[in-house]
Amino acid sequence: MTLKGDQIMQFPQEGLAREEVLRTLEEYRQTDGDWKHGKTWSLVYYAGEEITSLAEEVYRQYFHANGLNPFVFQSLKRIETEVLGMAADLFHGDENVVGTLTSGGSESILMAVKTYRDEARACKPHITQPEAVVPVTVHASFEKAAHYFGIKLVHAPLADDYRVDTAAVEQLITPNTIFLVGSAPQYPHGVIDPIAELSRIALSHNLRLHVDACLGGFTIPFIKELGGKVPAFDFELPGVTSISADLHKYAFAAKGVSALLYRNADIRKYQYFAYGDWPGGLFISPSATGTRPGGAIASAWAALKFIGRKGYLEITQSVLDTTKRLLAGIASIPELAILGEPPAGIFAFGSNQINVHALADHLEHKGWVIDQQVNPACLHFMVTPAHATIADAFVADLRLAVEEVKAAPEQPTPSTALYGLRTALPDPALVNQFIKEAYSRFMTEGGEFSFEGLL
Ligand SMILES: *Cc1c(COP(=O)(O)O)cnc(C)c1O
Repeated sequence: MTLKGDQIMQFPQEGLAREEVLRTLEEYRQTDGDWKHGKTWSLVYYAGEEITSLAEEVYRQYFHANGLNPFVFQSLKRIETEVLGMAADLFHGDENVVGTLTSGGSESILMAVKTYRDEARACKPHITQPEAVVPVTVHASFEKAAHYFGIKLVHAPLADDYRVDTAAVEQLITPNTIFLVGSAPQYPHGVIDPIAELSRIALSHNLRLHVDACLGGFTIPFIKELGGKVPAFDFELPGVTSISADLHKYAFAAKGVSALLYRNADIRKYQYFAYGDWPGGLFISPSATGTRPGGAIASAWAALKFIGRKGYLEITQSVLDTTKRLLAGIASIPELAILGEPPAGIFAFGSNQINVHALADHLEHKGWVIDQQVNPACLHFMVTPAHATIADAFVADLRLAVEEVKAAPEQPTPSTALYGLRTALPDPALVNQFIKEAYSRFMTEGGEFSFEGLL
């Protein structure tokens, strides 16, 4: 959308013809990432037309349904309970496990953080400045949640294998600590934190432990079943008190649905919000949103029921096979190195010989959408079934791009400029300020995303 760019928008006077609406949006879509053919490595999880078309049809059936009122939409309530029950079963939950479906991983995490804050207010009222100890690699939505809800996040460093250093976690616990977090796997490098050890620490310090399985919830259990080397991460560990697992990622539901599970309802009650004095009636809402889109919730039920354990095992096997080919290809390029030992389809590679931000730009020129990371500089990949047919083409382009960067190492690219600037800025608060200003400008005026002119 351009508010001040090439076109000042006006509210439409007369409605467009249906065909015109569809045609215009199709035209707009030409600039989007080509996820269907595996050119993107994040954001979209596509497991083929058969699954997608069913999810779309169910979404259409529940297009109007609103999970805000379970008394009116009783089928949605039933669907939500059944989805949570299926997830609890997968995560070794007993009959006490309860949960909520939310709009996504961020909302699940926001709610878990709020729940633990409110529980601590009630049960540990002497704590006035609550803290949580989290790995530095914890998803940014925890930073957002801490910011929203007034929690101090204490960041624990990583061990050499990129998993959180649990000795450091234990040392960072103070009398103000109310919960710990581990990820299964963490987003930046795809490795699973030592959740069993975090569980032990949480129990011995009387702390809550949230496991962020937004990415891994619907893939790690199947990797384990396929004989993969993955550690325990769920309710079978006695210290785990909540788990977030996104249905719109590796469960292949429509965008807008995630499961948040708690060990029991005594914990979940701190998540709920009620307001009985409203002139609009008795208000009760389980999570951050009011209206809850039925389509996304129903599509999650459809995906789990349609794919089933057998289907998820097949999909997971295919993702693992593709990942193995990609990792072997990357390992055969001497300039590149995989970070840690990622067990699933999520990984990152870096280099101590070439600038990977420049490498990313060369890959982008070849039509790939590349996610870039910092501390350390690396490129990030999440493998889905859509990548099975393009893995070899990617490795071939990667090999070429490495040679291109080596041939012109001094030539600055947009990414090296942006990331160079970002690392050169000394004050993190200033960086955040610039990111917000650059984003605001990008969203309203169009053009490139850059810090130019802000310095
Ligand atoms: C995607 C993700 C989240 C946030 O989920 P959204 O659905 O994007 O809000 C949280 N944690 C991890 C590990 C994730 O991969």
